[in-house]
Amino acid sequence: MSLQIQNVSKKFNQFHAVDKVSFTVQPGEIVSILGPSGCGKSTLLQIVAGLQSLDEGEITLNGEVISSAHFTLPPEKRGINMVFQDYALWPHMTVRQNIFYGSKVRKVNKQEQAENQIFLFNLLQLNGLEHRYPSELSGGQQQRVAIARALSTKPELLLLDEPLSNLDMQLRFEMRNELSYLLRKLGTTALHVTHDPVEAYALADRILMLRDGKIEQFGTPMEVRQAPASLWVAGLLGMNNRLQAVAINKSSVRIGASILHGIGALTVNEDVIVVMDSEALKLEEQQIDPQQNTLNGRVTHSIFEGHRWRIMLETAGGRLTVLHDVSVEVDRDVLVSFDPSNTFLYKQPEQAATPFLVNSGK
Ligand code: ADP
Repeated sequence: MSLQIQNVSKKFNQFHAVDKVSFTVQPGEIVSILGPSGCGKSTLLQIVAGLQSLDEGEITLNGEVISSAHFTLPPEKRGINMVFQDYALWPHMTVRQNIFYGSKVRKVNKQEQAENQIFLFNLLQLNGLEHRYPSELSGGQQQRVAIARALSTKPELLLLDEPLSNLDMQLRFEMRNELSYLLRKLGTTALHVTHDPVEAYALADRILMLRDGKIEQFGTPMEVRQAPASLWVAGLLGMNNRLQAVAINKSSVRIGASILHGIGALTVNEDVIVVMDSEALKLEEQQIDPQQNTLNGRVTHSIFEGHRWRIMLETAGGRLTVLHDVSVEVDRDVLVSFDPSNTFLYKQPEQAATPFLVNSGK
């Protein structure tokens, strides 16, 4: 199965919710669409599902046109199933009825359905729950039922719309790992929507970053993490440490008396924003003269986060947050070192810098 999205646009009144989007999902591949609220993720997913029409472009599944400006194949004829954020289970049906309603409608024979039930119930750990109603299940169990239901008719393509966002943190962590394992084990081709970079990293073979209805970057989790295409992408991926600097060459900047090297394509003397992940910074607890790729800072605050300390510092380029093994007292002068392969240099935006920030918990 392969899904091809070609030049797809959708407007609501004069507003471009999806704007000339093109990409392909290869057989067995999981693509995550990552973006902030309102960027067009759900609209795009609904267009692929056939729940929404498109204005321009074409979508093909296995070479067959399923959506164009003049044609929308009905959702039930696409061989596509969807898992929704709110599970959307039928409240008056038991777990078993919910999962196999689709097979019943499609008149799957009893033998095959019985085998499928054993497989899915084992896979999703639903044994013993088959006669319960959705109201008698926990959030995690309801989501497992929704996934089993979506898989029960062996769809060509699985669509996942923020599938974990209604679960609490611990359950979200567990289900994220389970879902990643499950989809790969089954070789499912899937298009997944999320605003959470951690979920995209865990599930996706490739991540498509959507900004105001347009693709900002498309690549594997490692590719986008190692080279965020813009300041906006770095923010979306949760890299929230930002410093003000001035370019001294293509990939080096000056902050106070320090020179930092990183990844960039800068012009000499332009104003620069330096972006790093807290994980990529190292803290030395003694004041040394600034060396290459180090910066002096003064501790303003420390927070214990269970297994490490989050240390906040003031530097000549602005505030920084560093993860460290031990607490450091306030007002202490320290030295922070920067890994050049994890230090990203972007030209300062023309307007006030208000990049989108995601709290990834890092
Ligand atoms: P996301 O899923 O990324 O949060 P959506 O695809 O739901 O974004 O929405 C993209 C944009 O299109 C938003 O600005 C939203 O307000 C608008 N939009 C979505 N559906 C409709 C609709 N039926 N009518 C008008 N505007 C809509």
